[in-house]
Amino acid sequence: MLRDTFGRQIEYLRISVTDRCNLRCVYCMPPEGVEKLGHEKIMHFEEIAEVVRVAAQYGVRAVRLTGGEPLVRKELPRLVRMIAETPGIEDVSLTTNGILLADLAAPLAEAGLKRVNVSLDTLDADKFTRITRVGSIENVWQGIAAAEKAGLAPLKINVVTMRGVNDDELMDMALLAKEHPWTVRFIELMPVKNQAPWGPGFPEPENAYISIQEMLQILEPLHLEPLTRKVGLGPAREYSLPGGMGKVGFISPVGDHFCAECNRLRLTADGNIRPCLLSDVEIPLLPALRAGESILPLLQQALRVKPEGHTLAEHITPHGRCMQQIGG
Ligand code: SAM
Repeated sequence: MLRDTFGRQIEYLRISVTDRCNLRCVYCMPPEGVEKLGHEKIMHFEEIAEVVRVAAQYGVRAVRLTGGEPLVRKELPRLVRMIAETPGIEDVSLTTNGILLADLAAPLAEAGLKRVNVSLDTLDADKFTRITRVGSIENVWQGIAAAEKAGLAPLKINVVTMRGVNDDELMDMALLAKEHPWTVRFIELMPVKNQAPWGPGFPEPENAYISIQEMLQILEPLHLEPLTRKVGLGPAREYSLPGGMGKVGFISPVGDHFCAECNRLRLTADGNIRPCLLSDVEIPLLPALRAGESILPLLQQALRVKPEGHTLAEHITPHGRCMQQIGG
């Protein structure tokens, strides 16, 4: 089993399949994007599949694909199939901005993808384009419809909550879970590097943070009822919405985190194991993979350096890489 120094057993691998993204969300990266990795530095599908194979042999059961934007990686259904067919892997899921999902939902589901999380920070079409700098919300709605049709469930909507940007929409966004069997999850804004000004009409990034306590106050009229957390199933605190089909969740990377039960490792698009999202320590796997050597000792090394907890609250901008490069 892959167990770290603090006794946490690793069962979940989060894989960034590309550092490229077709959006430029203001809170994630600068308008011009960030320096792209050369193709030779990006993991091939066979290399990713090898990491999954070894990890699954030692207890990893679930894989989530992310990015960058995972759907811009060519032939993604082929990778999904390779992962889904790996002995030991029970769950393959994806986090996406949804822009390309309309065409890909069916082939991905057919290849073995079980679920998708779609990032959507607003219901307002103009605001969506201002937040993402380039995107059209219509593509996301088409993507969500296609995901439902393809049976990718339960669908989760991830909302990064920002004062002066979408705090006026929290109620409307939570109410999506009334009419749909979706989990709408509000995520606290994390302070990251590479932040350019967000643009006219938006606040300074450092003034935009809203705590979960404040979000709960805003949503008080909904009488949300806390659900018991299932240990090890991720960092969201979930609530049921009386009379609703779905759920509402909150993710607080800054405030109350769940490091003590963190069961995950991350793999960056350029083949580094990152034991903690919020620590810059990374172990490169690519040289060993390309030399035909075993990566097991490197996975074990990653477990030895996986920190007990993150220090985001103390270090406001710890990242050498921005979220889109790490695979948020
Ligand atoms: N492109 C995909 C997407 O949009 O979901 C996957 C990668 S994206 C980096 C993963 C998630 O990280 C998205 O839900 C995004 O909103 C979130 N994210 C990015 N920067 C963030 C920040 N500074 N604070 C909180 N969440 C952030």
